[in-house]
Amino acid sequence: MSKTHPISPSGIFNTVQGEGQLLGVPMTFLRLAGCSVGCPGCDTDYTVAERLTVAEIVERLQRLRRRRWVWLTGGEPTDHPIGDLVTALRREGYLVAMATAGVRLETKDGWRVCEGNVGVDFLSVSPHFPPSSDRWVVRSGSQLNVVHGLNGVNVNDFTSVDVQRWGSCWVTPCWYHPGTRMEKVTECVEFVDKFPAWRLGIQAHKQWGLA
Ligand code: SF4
Repeated sequence: MSKTHPISPSGIFNTVQGEGQLLGVPMTFLRLAGCSVGCPGCDTDYTVAERLTVAEIVERLQRLRRRRWVWLTGGEPTDHPIGDLVTALRREGYLVAMATAGVRLETKDGWRVCEGNVGVDFLSVSPHFPPSSDRWVVRSGSQLNVVHGLNGVNVNDFTSVDVQRWGSCWVTPCWYHPGTRMEKVTECVEFVDKFPAWRLGIQAHKQWGLA
């Protein structure tokens, strides 16, 4: 029997990237189910809606208007042995970006979580743990996106980050909490003022009403 990958509800769809360096780029999202990170108050639906082989995933992608980028996300995509999936997507000519909480350097099948020839074309890390935590292990990549206010993440815990190890570093006010939204924006502005190597980000997809 062929190996399958768990897919979340509404797991394969076209949209436009709403955060970070690829903001505004049309892409296809591929959302794998499951997450071992265990953030308190997580509201992402990462239940398993179906299981698909790599060939079935590629076939689903081909049914959509073709986008240059596939954005692999979760849940936590590195919970799964995804080496064959990433290889197949790149063989099909897609650029592959991956969003991870940065909790492991290698997946179960020995696939290295990194950008470049042996990884993905774009690696976005949104840590859910402060730099002092040994649960945040991926400390370099295309972009670091700290979402201030998301499940207790506080940008002021990230002052020691080595920005040289990242293509770009973003501090993004969490859009979810209308009551404290402006407070979070102000704190992020103060942060980029103090640390100008960082950029102020936005969760534009929330404002656009996109998934
Ligand atoms: S990493 Fe994301 S999906 Fe996983 S528990 Fe945390 S917020 Fe939820």
